[in-house]
Amino acid sequence: MTPAGLCATCRHANQVTSAKRSTFVRCGLSVTDPRFPKYPRLPVSRCEGFEPPTGAAAPQGHQT
Ligand code: SF4
Repeated sequence: MTPAGLCATCRHANQVTSAKRSTFVRCGLSVTDPRFPKYPRLPVSRCEGFEPPTGAAAPQGHQT
């Protein structure tokens, strides 16, 4: 499992790297749903809000 657990592959996750180069995740669902912490404690192994990325089967390209 990656250090972030489920968050590493969740579409709601926004990865943030601090000035000290530690990486954490800001959960996008926390904005609309108070059940989810803004900064979940990693690794997350179970989460009701987890959703795979949209177009998970498609290659990740740059969007302009
Ligand atoms: S919904 Fe769950 S798995 Fe997804 S980013 Fe938030 S805490 Fe992580």
